[in-house]
Amino acid sequence: MFPAALFHRALRWLGGHWNRHRPRVPPAELRPARPSGITCWIPGKRMQGSGGYPARFARYHLRMGMWRDRARKAGAFAAEAVAETLWPTRCALCDIPGAVLCSACRSQLPYLDWWRACPRCGSAYGFVQCTACNPLALARIERDELPYAACTSSTVFTDETGRIARVFKDQGERRLAGVMADCMARAIAPDWPIDAIAFVPATVRAVRHRGFDHAELLAKELSQHLGTPCMPLLDRPKTRDQRKLGSAERIANLRESFRMAPGKSADGLRLLLVDDVYTTGATLCAAADALLSASAAEVRCVTFARV
Ligand SMILES: [Zn+2]
Ligand SMILES: [Zn+2]
Repeated sequence: MFPAALFHRALRWLGGHWNRHRPRVPPAELRPARPSGITCWIPGKRMQGSGGYPARFARYHLRMGMWRDRARKAGAFAAEAVAETLWPTRCALCDIPGAVLCSACRSQLPYLDWWRACPRCGSAYGFVQCTACNPLALARIERDELPYAACTSSTVFTDETGRIARVFKDQGERRLAGVMADCMARAIAPDWPIDAIAFVPATVRAVRHRGFDHAELLAKELSQHLGTPCMPLLDRPKTRDQRKLGSAERIANLRESFRMAPGKSADGLRLLLVDDVYTTGATLCAAADALLSASAAEVRCVTFARV
């Protein structure tokens, strides 16, 4: 064989070898036209055999994707290990290292007694005669009747539950959302008809300050517990932070403070509305009003703690 032919064969072999491991995809404008609308199982890539995307490219991208995922998981694991060594996880109540809320503290939370609570508004000890949803109490939040069908809370608002809510919201301990949602899921009666989970969104300012929407996190965790989709249905135009206001100011502040998020519909849905703390009920009422005026079939509410 001539040396030139040998040389060309070697080049071809090398090229093939090289390309098997690192196939180079030609730029989009040089690739032949393919039928539109067909994608393969690699996100963003065209289907195999539809022209211009050989199987080896597909294999290459799949393998690269797997390695990227593995690298990301390993990085997250390493970062968590370092963080856990430097700043170990401590219980939000007793400060003992180990869990975000230790089992001893969790078992001693002031759980709201279901059988004594008001079936309508969820007030503790209101089963026989409720002082929280009678006409006199409703007049205080300028209402004739409650917009939601029922409300329940997992715990009574005490120093402990208040601290949990504060650590979660203000100190940014997002892992508490799982524990809180677990408590909330147990407070929901199994026969409640729920099509989707909505939440009371935090103000834009609060989200910017905290870096997350606490009720959204709770709703997402709760949706995993209940197996029901979580839908960000509500939007919150600019209002003042509720915690700094008195009862009358809250009502004034809350009037028309919720609206449906653009492009969202609650038409005919039976919704579960999620919030962290039930204080006067005015926030939940205003949010439920917004959902019902967008033709939601029914709204039920759940909160972690109740004042
Ligand atoms: Zn503890
Ligand atoms: Zn009641």
